[in-house]
Amino acid sequence: MLNSSLRALASALAQRQVSSVELTRAYLARIERLNPRLNAFVTVDPEASLAQARAADQRLARSEAGPLTGIPVAHKDIFCAKGWRTTCGSKMLANFVAPYDAHVVERLNAAGMVSLGKTNMDEFAMGSSNETSHFGPVRNPWALDRVPGGSSGGSACAVAARLAPAATGTDTGGSIRQPAALCGISGLKPTYGLVSRYGMIAFASSLDQGGPMARSAEDLALLLNAMAGFDPRDSTSLEREPEDYTRHLDNPLEGVRLGLPREYFAEGVAPEVARTVEQAVAVFRELGCETVEVSLPNMELSVPVYYVLAPAEASSNLARYDGVRYGYRTPQYRDLLDMYMKTRAEGFGAEVKRRILIGTYVLSHGYYDAYYLQAQKLRRLIAQDFRRAFERCDLLLGPTSPTTAFPLGSRLSDPVQMYLSDIFTIAVNLAGLPGLSIPAGFDAEGLPVGLQIIGNYFAEARMLNAAHQYQRLTDWHQRVPPGIEEG
Ligand code: GLN
Repeated sequence: MLNSSLRALASALAQRQVSSVELTRAYLARIERLNPRLNAFVTVDPEASLAQARAADQRLARSEAGPLTGIPVAHKDIFCAKGWRTTCGSKMLANFVAPYDAHVVERLNAAGMVSLGKTNMDEFAMGSSNETSHFGPVRNPWALDRVPGGSSGGSACAVAARLAPAATGTDTGGSIRQPAALCGISGLKPTYGLVSRYGMIAFASSLDQGGPMARSAEDLALLLNAMAGFDPRDSTSLEREPEDYTRHLDNPLEGVRLGLPREYFAEGVAPEVARTVEQAVAVFRELGCETVEVSLPNMELSVPVYYVLAPAEASSNLARYDGVRYGYRTPQYRDLLDMYMKTRAEGFGAEVKRRILIGTYVLSHGYYDAYYLQAQKLRRLIAQDFRRAFERCDLLLGPTSPTTAFPLGSRLSDPVQMYLSDIFTIAVNLAGLPGLSIPAGFDAEGLPVGLQIIGNYFAEARMLNAAHQYQRLTDWHQRVPPGIEEG
């Protein structure tokens, strides 16, 4: 069961080979056994999970089940879930119990999925290694001394280590794709606006987007079917006809034009990552795809642009944590100002403070035109680069991350080095495009390499089609981290 696809799980549930309660118990037992080593989950509530599983079993018995009913899922702890502690990886929210469900949680609950718990993450989703979490780092199941990537590192680790068959994540600059790549799983960041941000704790609202993390493209398609959809409670939610994201999975790839951005195949990519991506390109050629070289000339500006815009938005979004309404409040203070200051000094970690300081700076009078406005203009140019590239191809292909999983602690003292972990993912968020990462091989140390597929707006079904066809020919997505299978 642990290695079954979501479709196989659904059919086992439908045929009563297993009940949702049994499946949920099996995953909870694995979490209990393996989580102390991996730190992927920050909150579990077996009673709540099993109550959902029992309800799912009743639905199955009444033959009212959908394709996901009774299947367990882990939620990144950035999604509010009613009655569940929702921390966003921060001391600021360490005692916060959400009074309502995020749209994504609501949709997956309605589909009959069973929540296994909340997964660890970088504090307020700021990070690429899961080391900024108030709850300690997550370990990479492929090598326990390596990072799982971030910020959805807990979700990626949980899926890779078979602590959950699927998980939710969010991606502001790479946080679904980069940890998916480093943990050897599949992850999709949808087109901005496709998945509602309601109840998803805000980091940088013009970039944040929730999406699915699972082992295969087919699993992602099934999850996206349930997660996507218009929500009037998110003003940037898109009103579109619902789509079936599985509908193109089996299409042949003959004649599909793959663009290879020159900037993604340049120096700075670890040789084994580059070699693995080249091999993946060869597989796509075998599948009938044509390849064209394209260029994204402003790509190199994406990291600096992001590190102006994302902190600017974060400094505004995080102003709400003032010790008054909810979350942490310092125990001792003289007056209101002192309370604000101590609460924020004690409640936020170093990386979050760094972002608030940068954001406040670039938005302040006199610097707004010099930094924030310039960054907005460059953001437009980056989006235009993609538009031009998509005039010549259907999908873009490249590495997800320039390196495989790095050792815990190795980039913590060098924020710029850490920020560069997302060099290949960030531009996609700036343009609002969908991006997908799938496993494409391993380096000499046995660490997974991720392949990124970038699509035009709303091209999710085509991206998943390409990924699924690749996964029919390869088995990278089915590999199990050594030592995790039985343990
Ligand atoms: N690593 C990037 C950052 O720290 C992206 C994080 C994310 O996508 N949430 O901002």
